[in-house]
Formats: sequence, C-alpha cells, structure tokens
Amino acid sequence: MYALLKSNRTNVRPLLNYHQPYELLIANILLEHCSYNEVNAVTKKLYKKYQSIIDFAYCNLESLEVDIDRIENYKQKAQNIIQACSIIINDYKSVLPVSHDDLIKLPGIDTDSANMMLSEIYNIPFVILDNHIMRIVKLLKFTRNDDLIKIRADIAEIFDEKIWTKVTYLISEHGEQVCIEIEPKCEKCILNQLCPSSSV
Ligand code: SF4
Repeated sequence: MYALLKSNRTNVRPLLNYHQPYELLIANILLEHCSYNEVNAVTKKLYKKYQSIIDFAYCNLESLEVDIDRIENYKQKAQNIIQACSIIINDYKSVLPVSHDDLIKLPGIDTDSANMMLSEIYNIPFVILDNHIMRIVKLLKFTRNDDLIKIRADIAEIFDEKIWTKVTYLISEHGEQVCIEIEPKCEKCILNQLCPSSSV
C-alpha cells in the first residue's frame, strides 16, 4: 500500500503548508475542525503579513481575528496563536520544544499536532492521525478500534517505524483527493485491488 501511494511521488510532505517551524505551529492551531485547504488558504496571506514568531506574539488580537476570520472558532484560535508564540519566545528562546509533553501544553495543540511538529522539525517518526486517516484505515481493515491510542498502535505495528510519518501523510492526502468521505472514487483508486471496502 505504501509503495502504491508513494509511486510517482518525489516528496512526501504534510498537507499543511509551512516554511518555518513556528508557521507549522500556527497552522496546527488553526486546523482543529477545519480542512487543510481552508488552513492553507488563510496561512498563505498570514505568513506574508506576520513574518516572524515575534510578529505573531506581539500582534493586535483584533487584527489577527480579522485575518483568520474564515476559520472556525477564529477568536479562540487567535488567542491561542498569540499565547503559544509568547510561550515559545519566553520559555523556549523562540525554539519549538523537542518534548511532546511541552508541546501539548501549548494552547490549541493536541497529541497529533505535537506528533506532526516533532516529525517534521526534529525528524522523530510518529503516526499522525487526522479524520481522513482514521476513516481510511478502517476501510482498509488496518484497525477495528475507535480509540485513538489503539489506532496509532495498530498502524505502528503494520508499518516500519521509519515510514510511519510518510504513511500517514500519504493516507491523509489520499483521503483529500480520492477516498473522499462522501463519495470515495474507488474506480480511480490505486488501492482498489487491495482494499476490502472497494466498490469495484
Ligand atoms: S478502494 Fe475505495 S474505499 Fe478503498 S481506499 Fe480506495 S477509494 Fe477508499
């Protein structure tokens, strides 16, 4: 499955766009209950206006709210962005902590956001769950569990640790483009010969 999804791909990246580590932090804060496309559309302009973690930490809250008001729960997320960036500056000398426990204490950051940051920035392999992945691993019968910890463990057991992060990025992208929740495109799916849930 990994080889099929990875075929014709030179670079496997997260679906959140970013250039600097603090930008990945902000994108993850914005992501809750939103799609990757919604977040990327907002951050494209946001990263041009606010060009450093200091710009975010010391910005005007009302202005930031306007800049992200297409995002669900934008008022709370604007506060979380300012607080998280202030904590990174004051407690971690402007460098994202390498500790999972420290990352999930930041406002708006959950386990999978922390896992993505550790994988991307510090090259530590993690299984990173999102709604696409949790749905598709069930269609592929990789898990029967609903519990997030058990789903991560099931995926981790199937794949080599070195590719955990890439596998989850590829499945997530597959969920955006092919195995779409409302109408999976099984006839076009590269996995349709392997997938127990295929309709073709
Ligand atoms: S065959 Fe259909 S259900 Fe299975 S992964 Fe592909 S699109 Fe999803």
